Formats: sequence, structure tokens, C-alpha cells
Amino acid sequence: MNETKEQKLNPLTADLWGLLMNKQQIKLAELYEIFEKRGEQEKNIQKAIEILQELSMIKGSNGKGSGDLLVKVQNVIGKEIEDLPCLGCQALEKCGVGENYSPENCNRLSLWIRDLRKKRQQKENED
Ligand code: SF4
Repeated sequence: MNETKEQKLNPLTADLWGLLMNKQQIKLAELYEIFEKRGEQEKNIQKAIEILQELSMIKGSNGKGSGDLLVKVQNVIGKEIEDLPCLGCQALEKCGVGENYSPENCNRLSLWIRDLRKKRQQKENED
């Protein structure tokens, strides 16, 4: 993932995603343990999980007490989602349709979709 200024502002979500990209799935208790050892607060870990769930990038419960439940990477659109600009965006929690920050007016998201479309088209032409 390219490191931009905005991505540095939401490092926990990006770190959590990086961990899940490596492991694909993990027990929630283990996930909380890893990040709490790094000094992260439980509520912030929970929020980072919720953000990834809202983006449909993972599935599973986010409660620390849910013990054995796994958080799994959801292969919604494939590897390209690693570069989704929303993941590390400073405005992610304020962004929504009709809001000041919105997907319909976002150049970064539009460029990402355009690149994704181009890559898909190239792949189709190669097949
Ligand atoms: S749509 Fe744009 S402004 Fe909204 S979270 Fe994604 S990158 Fe940020």
C-alpha cells in the first residue's frame, strides 16, 4: 500500500488490515492481544475492526469477549482492495453520502475506481 500523509493519520486500521492480509483469519482474542501489547486501547481496536467491517473487508464479530470467533478477510473485489484510499483516509469516519466528505465527490476514490476498471479491462483483454 502506498504510504500517503492521510494514511499515516489512521495507522491502527491500516496495521490491522496488514495483519489480516498476512494471516487471512485470526481469533479475536489473539488479535486484541497483539494490539494491546503494542499499547493500543481496546476501544480503538474495536473501532478499527468496525471500520474494516463497514468497508466489507472483513467479517465476524468485533467484541473482545467473543473468544473463538474469527475475523476473516473477505475477498470482495480481490487484491486491489489493498490500495483502497478510504482505508487510511483522515476523513473516513466523517465520510458518507451527502456529507461534506463523500464518496460521490472524492477524487481519490474516483481515481482508484478508474485504475481498478483499467486493470480489470487489461486482464480481460489478456484472457
Ligand atoms: S471516499 Fe474519499 S473522503 Fe471518503 S473515506 Fe474514501 S478516500 Fe476518504
